[in-house]
Amino acid sequence: MHVSGLRQRFTSVILLTISSASLWLILGAIPALIFYSFSLLLLSLHHLRYLAALDEWLQTSAPATSTLPNTTGAWGDVFTRLTRLMRSQSQSQQQLSTALERLRRATSAMPEGVVILDESDRIEWCNPVAEQHFGLDFNRDTGQQITYLVRQTQFAEYLATRNYSEPLIVRQSRQQELILSLQLIPYGDKQKLLISRDITLLERVETMRRDFVANVSHELRTPLTVIGGFLETLSEEDQTGSKIGKRALTLMTDQTLRMQRLVEDLLALSRLENAQNQVREGNVNIVEMLRELYHEAQSLSAGRHHINLKLDTDAQLRGSADELHSAFSNLVSNAIRYTPGGGEILLNWRIEGGQGLFLVQDSGIGIESEHLPRLTERFYRVDRSRSRETGGTGLGLAIVKHILSRHQAHLEIVSEPRNGSRFIARFPENRLIIAQDNPMPKQP
Ligand code: ADP
Repeated sequence: MHVSGLRQRFTSVILLTISSASLWLILGAIPALIFYSFSLLLLSLHHLRYLAALDEWLQTSAPATSTLPNTTGAWGDVFTRLTRLMRSQSQSQQQLSTALERLRRATSAMPEGVVILDESDRIEWCNPVAEQHFGLDFNRDTGQQITYLVRQTQFAEYLATRNYSEPLIVRQSRQQELILSLQLIPYGDKQKLLISRDITLLERVETMRRDFVANVSHELRTPLTVIGGFLETLSEEDQTGSKIGKRALTLMTDQTLRMQRLVEDLLALSRLENAQNQVREGNVNIVEMLRELYHEAQSLSAGRHHINLKLDTDAQLRGSADELHSAFSNLVSNAIRYTPGGGEILLNWRIEGGQGLFLVQDSGIGIESEHLPRLTERFYRVDRSRSRETGGTGLGLAIVKHILSRHQAHLEIVSEPRNGSRFIARFPENRLIIAQDNPMPKQP
């Protein structure tokens, strides 16, 4: 309120005081005090009347739009200001609810299911698609724990891990044919968005692709074994006589072997991709496995490389021995195949930051950085002819990646052209089995 406004409001009181003081001088104290008290009483009654009018006005359902009480003077100003304030407030409220309604309609029209969860994972809001995906009812289920309604154990585990970088694929328990991809997105003050996508069709196509590759590979296995067998017999008997015939025989044998390796790798990949094929968990003695691999590497290298094995821990791993052997041997054979004669190769098993770490380091040809993110894709090769010459199928690192992810491990690749490469497999702490008082293993 401005100072001039304040002065205006108090004019009546000031005038009254001056008049009472004059009366005091003329008629004495008692009549002046009676006049003063009576006038103040009248003034208070006047204000009380308007206070009552204000109270009544505020109690109406929409004071901003209802007609103003008939007021003048200072009270008139108060009522006008209040009306203006209320009108602007109701306008911004309306704008807010229109925006909210628009947002709600947009989220409802989304092809994905959206559930808003509060900090205790209780449902605050969900759109119709989420109701359909999870069998929810917005009116009935608001405030319910999401895990009471989405009952898959994998979902409860996913929610508890607090690592939502990858989506979770679940088969809906109520409608078995519905396959959902669920992604949690934390936001705001410990709230979360649960986004669900129907990927039933996509999964069906993916299953068809997997089955097709597995079936074709399986069907090719027997004819290739027969051809390989006959070629071997022919080479042993050496009945061709001619030089061209011998060369043809060698080429056919090499290509048959290559096809056999390809078929075996494709079958291995489809076994790994099959979700029903769970990891056969056991305690794997990595030290023993690496000693075996070291000898295999030496015979593969045939003395062309300096190979070292460095065992810094005797920790074992919980996992599948066959799968881990296949992954590690792929990394080791790559190091030999992509390192020219005279190069150095190091195999190392150690614990770093609580994680189990298997490292294969070579001083070989190295890899340009632009290829690194794509190396684990099937059939991705930096140099196709070199891969073929050295007996590669282009599937080795794809197999490694699958095996590691089945063991919740990660593959890191550090490499520079002509400066060698480092392939590191990191295993989580909960997969390590560490003996308390075993001495460190002897190096080979
Ligand atoms: P391949 O059978 O062709 O070796 P992989 O999947 O094992 O298939 O490897 C994919 C590609 O990654 C290889 O073709 C090669 O170009 C590159 N690569 C893998 N390991 C190494 C390595 N140790 N040094 C250099 N390049 C490598």
